[in-house]
Amino acid sequence: MKQGDEAPPNPRPLPLRLPRLCVAIVGSDPADMIADAISVVREESFMEFRLDYLKQPLAALDGLREFLHTYPHLVALATCRRAANGGKFRGTVAAQLEVLRQAQAAGCQIVDVELESALTLKPAELESLRTRGSLLLSFHDFKGTKDLEAIFEKMRQIRADFYKVVTTATCLYDNVRMMKFLDDKSRDYAVIGVCMGEQGVISRVLGLRAGSAFTFAAVAAGGETAPGQITARHLREVYRVDQLDPATRIYGVAGDPVGQSLSPQMMNAALRRENVNAVYLPLHALSVEDLIECVRAVPIQGVSVTMPHKESIVKFLDGTDPWTQKTGAANTLVRGKDGRLFGFNTDVAGVLRPLEQRLSLMGAKTLVIGAGGAARAAVYGLKERGSEVFILNRTPAKGVKLAKEAKANYLGRSELKKHQFDVIINATPVGMDGQQSPLGEKEIKATYVFDMVYRLLETPFTKAAKAAGAQVIPGYEMFVQQGVQQFQIWTAKPAPVNEMQNVVLAAINAAQPPVAPVAEVLQPEKPQPEPEKPKAEKPKAEKPKAAALNPAAARVVAAKAVKPAAAKPKAVKPKAEKSKGARQRADKAPAAKSKAKKNK
Ligand code: NAP
Repeated sequence: MKQGDEAPPNPRPLPLRLPRLCVAIVGSDPADMIADAISVVREESFMEFRLDYLKQPLAALDGLREFLHTYPHLVALATCRRAANGGKFRGTVAAQLEVLRQAQAAGCQIVDVELESALTLKPAELESLRTRGSLLLSFHDFKGTKDLEAIFEKMRQIRADFYKVVTTATCLYDNVRMMKFLDDKSRDYAVIGVCMGEQGVISRVLGLRAGSAFTFAAVAAGGETAPGQITARHLREVYRVDQLDPATRIYGVAGDPVGQSLSPQMMNAALRRENVNAVYLPLHALSVEDLIECVRAVPIQGVSVTMPHKESIVKFLDGTDPWTQKTGAANTLVRGKDGRLFGFNTDVAGVLRPLEQRLSLMGAKTLVIGAGGAARAAVYGLKERGSEVFILNRTPAKGVKLAKEAKANYLGRSELKKHQFDVIINATPVGMDGQQSPLGEKEIKATYVFDMVYRLLETPFTKAAKAAGAQVIPGYEMFVQQGVQQFQIWTAKPAPVNEMQNVVLAAINAAQPPVAPVAEVLQPEKPQPEPEKPKAEKPKAEKPKAAALNPAAARVVAAKAVKPAAAKPKAVKPKAEKSKGARQRADKAPAAKSKAKKNK
């Protein structure tokens, strides 16, 4: 029997109810670690001390004892994970055991022993940890989420108070696997389950609801101890993890990439403001198939679909709205009560609303730069409102094709100087870098310039537009309006537009890079054989009213523009192909439970 085995049980018993969030405390040295703990001791009552991050873990224990003595309400978990098992401790298993024993003596009520170490320890050594406190047996898979049943069966052979299974999500559906595992095992065991990685966010937020005894969080951005870990503040304030219950509806934004999206901040703020029991998550979807399986199994009631899935998702939908049919792209998914999936395109409303708050589009002469998804939304929306639409695109053939389809006009760049527009819209990513403008100041002859780039308050294009005397419509207005429409479709409630806009503006302001002093203008497209030009359509009605609405009138228009929609899609497309496996998984799902050019 080793020295210290006769020590009395931990003098600080575990509370009956554990806090749901355990924050990981790391430090480069003992003083740094305690300073980190002190910085959050007012908000956090459950801390994991990562002793393996210290060069000499034993040297930290006097300070830890003193700290825990000063804050007797705290629950403390000590971890000294070995490097071979994904931690930073380079000592032997015996040395690891000694650190954990001493941590218990210092007041830590729970100690984490990874399965690999536990398998080399004698049962009596493990049992001695349980007599002094609680033993948490952990397993980590840093590559994937495989055979959770088999892993747990192995773990179950060792008596522990908590079983922690941490895997890596390589697809969204891995979160479903983890939540099913939690739902099943939490009936008989205290289990903790989390998927690491950007694709594991669902499990970090919904794991508690699925049965995880608690979950892990970072103290602050940069202090993550596992890939994809979220800060405790973000989990509470944005995802409201303390309030999630079996009735909480799940929404999200799906794309690749999706990490920089402002949608989670905007939509969660709106849901909270309107007291909707729902949470909105970033869903890093590498494939539409994975997204759809996850939507069916979790289930997820609504998704903001972003690049590159707006077009490829359409074939999976049971019904679509007319805008989706016209543009061939859906940015909004709704899961009906019967599990059917419907698609909407709210990008069209996102373009039209900010414009209609300022001018009548009937007969307005508009130029859309670009021929991609966002340009299609603008072109079809403007055509429907009776505008005379011109298209200019880097690849003329694509612009001409869109012009033909939408009965609009294609314009070569050299012809620009002959035209005065009511509105010019940039529907390309040009300017996202804060360096380039799709048109030079001299080429901008317009009353309004609308730049869809929304992560910058001022882009080289809007700067040039102001210099050319045009009024600027910032891209964030479109971002907010497409979100407003989504909120209304999902909740049938008017969206809190001001709140949403404020959150987006605050986030954009917080991330503002310095504006480039000189706007570089994109070189005109290379001369190409003149494409066949579709005939310009005659304006349908009266001349455009170029004057802007006064702010009061604009508010009235804005207020009218937020009627609850929740419209049913008119046309229903043939049933989507569903894999049998996906349907079966959905049925069994627990009820509770470099493309960086895009800026959405
Ligand atoms: P997309 O489908 O990929 O289309 C991109 C378009 O931009 C294409 O016409 C492409 O021309 C053109 N383009 C790309 N790089 C260019 C360059 N360096 N120079 C000139 N033209 C270039 O993308 P999308 O979905 O339409 O999105 C376009 C932009 O709108 C993105 O910045 C996106 O973030 C923004 N957006 C904003 C909102 C919002 O809420 N504010 C909503 C949706 C989209 P080619 O045909 O020659 O490739």
